[in-house]
Amino acid sequence: MTTARPIRLWGFRAYLTLWLGGLSLAVLVSVGYYLGKMATAELTEAQGEALFGRAQAAALQLSNSLKERELEIALLSQAPHVVRGDWANGDVQASLDRRQAARPEYAWLGVTDARGTVRRATHDLLIGEDVSTRTWFQAGRNGLYVGDVHEALLLARLVQYDVQDGAAMRFIDIAAPIRRNGSLVGVAAAHVHWDWVWQTARRAFAGHELGPGAELLLVDRDGAVLYPSHLLGQDTLNEWPSTMHHRILRWGDGHLYLTSVTSVPPTESTELGWRVVVRQLETYALADTRALRDRLIGLGLVGVLVIGWAAYRTASHMAVPLERLTSVARQIEAGNHAPVFPERVEVLEIERLSQSLRSMTRTLLAHEYELEQKVRDRTEALEQANAELERRATTDPLTGVHNRRRLQDKLDELMRIRQRTGRTFALMVADVDHFKRINDSFGHDAGDRVLQAFAQVLMKQTRATDFVARFGGEEFVVVLPETSELEAACIAAEKIRAAVEATQFPIPKAVTLSIGVTVCDPQDEGPDTVLKRADRALYDAKAAGRNRVVALAGDAPT
Ligand code: GH3
Ligand code: MG
Ligand code: MG
Repeated sequence: MTTARPIRLWGFRAYLTLWLGGLSLAVLVSVGYYLGKMATAELTEAQGEALFGRAQAAALQLSNSLKERELEIALLSQAPHVVRGDWANGDVQASLDRRQAARPEYAWLGVTDARGTVRRATHDLLIGEDVSTRTWFQAGRNGLYVGDVHEALLLARLVQYDVQDGAAMRFIDIAAPIRRNGSLVGVAAAHVHWDWVWQTARRAFAGHELGPGAELLLVDRDGAVLYPSHLLGQDTLNEWPSTMHHRILRWGDGHLYLTSVTSVPPTESTELGWRVVVRQLETYALADTRALRDRLIGLGLVGVLVIGWAAYRTASHMAVPLERLTSVARQIEAGNHAPVFPERVEVLEIERLSQSLRSMTRTLLAHEYELEQKVRDRTEALEQANAELERRATTDPLTGVHNRRRLQDKLDELMRIRQRTGRTFALMVADVDHFKRINDSFGHDAGDRVLQAFAQVLMKQTRATDFVARFGGEEFVVVLPETSELEAACIAAEKIRAAVEATQFPIPKAVTLSIGVTVCDPQDEGPDTVLKRADRALYDAKAAGRNRVVALAGDAPT
């Protein structure tokens, strides 16, 4: 056995709006997601490449600055007056002083002898000092050397320099051997202000700001920050690639940065292993991407709302006339025969439905009207037939006055009224005198015509409220309701008698009648008692010679 699943009914509007709105949401979300992803990737790529380009420019600039200083010291070590090792020669001192005057980045320039004693130096600093244990001296004896950045406390105290970074004074050592005919004469060296070198590198960005939240860093081969000073000693990245175009990485401070790394090209003599890093807080780096994404979401939502609204409008466009048609159908159901059909329906199918419903209604209503008319006609005919039956049941067919059955009902009713209200009635029995003779003399038909004319006189001589019935044969009963006086009843009876006597009948011309009159008395048990008393009075009238009225009161002896 299968059980029918309950069908969930949806409004046309809700149905179309939800479907189209949902569908457009799905499409817009998918397209928005795809476009957003593409745009995000492209924007991130563009910003990352921009950062990487800056890093490369800075690294190149830095490397070039160092190479220039390195070349200068190499040239100094090969100057003829230096190679001679004649330290007292004024040209040596002049050569050192000229270079320092031209290049403020030189904190110190000097030459040592082969044993490591400073023989000539700018501003005579460190003259006579033994520097044989210094790294730069030991490396410089063997060849051109560029040393890693370091702090030099003694020198820092002796020289004046405006450090832009605000950190401790740090230097780079550059040294080159002085050789004559292959044998070491001494070492030419320079201490270069590191801050100057770095600022020179930074000048690669002149006119190209890095953008908000972006920083330029220099790290050594171990990943320790060399620059800027406020990041010295801080955690950076765990593992440093030598070159990385761009990637979003989490730094030691817990923030995400779009990060680009490039290595500083080596100088003529030395591979320092430094790397230039440009990093930008992800929030700033991807700001455009986020703005784009937000715009896409906004546009998508607007799109969904517009499509949803359009779907709702379209559905309403169709639903409203359908609802009106439903309402029309309900009106017809409720018996409204002139419902107002929707006008100007713009949807063809609904317009056709409306027209069909309209013509169907017209046909049905016409049919219904026809049926109703038939029912009305039949009912009327039936009522007429019933009335005729009723009339026949209560009317005497010969004379047209009430028959004996109807008289019985009337008397019962009057008795009930009398019992309830005390209002009584008078009753007379009228009998044609010698009627048998009429029949015998002129025939039964003539007798019938006499009876008919006689009934007409009775009707004419009584009031509309009085009641005339044929009791049987040529005997009639007249009831006078609301009449309690025997005298008043006698007057009415006399009036009838006189009228009959005065009436010209067709054949025979003269007919008389005798009337027995009485009034219903409180002692009377029923209609028969009253009838019997009236009959008795009639008998008395006949006995007294006919053509007269005899009255008998209720208390009269029977
Ligand atoms: P009385 O003055 O004593 O009343 O005499 P009567 O002849 O009128 O009375 P009776 O009762 O002897 O006669 C009544 C007659 O009425 C007898 C009957 O044939 C006749 N009759 C009864 N019904 C009809 C009727 O419907 N049509 C005709 N033509 N005669 C009828
Ligand atoms: Mg009679
Ligand atoms: Mg008679």
